[in-house]
Amino acid sequence: MNAEILTVGTELLLGDILNSNSQFLSRELAVYGIDTLYQSTVGDNHDRLRAAVELALSRCDMVILTGGLGPTEDDLTRETVAEALELPLVLDEESETRIQEYFKATGKEFTENNRKQAMLPEGCTVFKNDHGTAPGCAVEKDGKCVILLPGPPKELVPMFVDSVAPYLQRFSGETIRSHTVGVFGIPEAAIDERLHDLTEAANPTVAPYAKYGEVLLRVTAKAATAEEADALCEPVIAEIRARLGAAVYGVDTGGLAVTTVNLLKKNEKKIATAESCTAGMLSEKLTEVPGVSQVFECGIAAYSPEIKRQVLGVPEAVL
Ligand code: ATP
Ligand code: MG
Repeated sequence: MNAEILTVGTELLLGDILNSNSQFLSRELAVYGIDTLYQSTVGDNHDRLRAAVELALSRCDMVILTGGLGPTEDDLTRETVAEALELPLVLDEESETRIQEYFKATGKEFTENNRKQAMLPEGCTVFKNDHGTAPGCAVEKDGKCVILLPGPPKELVPMFVDSVAPYLQRFSGETIRSHTVGVFGIPEAAIDERLHDLTEAANPTVAPYAKYGEVLLRVTAKAATAEEADALCEPVIAEIRARLGAAVYGVDTGGLAVTTVNLLKKNEKKIATAESCTAGMLSEKLTEVPGVSQVFECGIAAYSPEIKRQVLGVPEAVL
């Protein structure tokens, strides 16, 4: 199986953003035995995007597109791919409901444009988006496979890990297992230095993904059975723990916020936050976790010395 990665966005062509999606996807596809033959980038332009999709389909078995799934006029990927594949776009009701719920939860207003994001090529496999609105999807037609993923890495990476990776299993003759090691307090570059021999290895592979405020290390092995693949991962995870020590906060426990909330629930403890310069960022991270109200009491963003003294009881000397 071979693939072309087609990243969509004028910002990429202008050099405004680094194309980390291509690097991420190429590294991941290799795990599934899928050879990336081309990486190309095209701007937010219908005709050029259409030509790029057709060219990619003419020379590769699989085309993975990222970007342009947003609700605005310049987001053209869904429509253009459906056109190239000669498939109608149909409303995916589950995605529509998820988008509406996302808007309710974040207090933003749902517009007709947002419904557009739930319009997907007929017959596709839908990948839900837990970190944004646009669902991803995979379409199989005439022996080709086209995968659409959102542009923002903070949406794409978890979608890939949770949904696309299991989907790609079918293209690999072996069983693939991944485990995620959560690391907090050591920057990605320093982790890379300490784990260099592990990140160079082939089976299991160890791939670091920097997220906001933390780094996730994905350990992936392939073998004939899930048990054998897990057995290959185990010693590598133990070695990572040994080298990074207390900076490892969990394995397969979800991100830092989810892990924190689950630990609080398990230990029947509660949390409240008091923040100054971060103006509520910490409470925001915690309250993004579903079911947090069971453990989260309140968050106070205090800027004035009076509030810090009177409401939070911060001692004068500390102020
Ligand atoms: P949105 O719903 O946010 O509009 P989208 O799926 O339409 O998402 P784009 O509008 O193409 O995606 O890109 C949104 C943002 O995602 C960009 O501003 C950029 O920060 C990031 N992004 C897009 N493509 C890439 C890429 N190839 N590599 C890294 N980051 C990217
Ligand atoms: Mg967009």
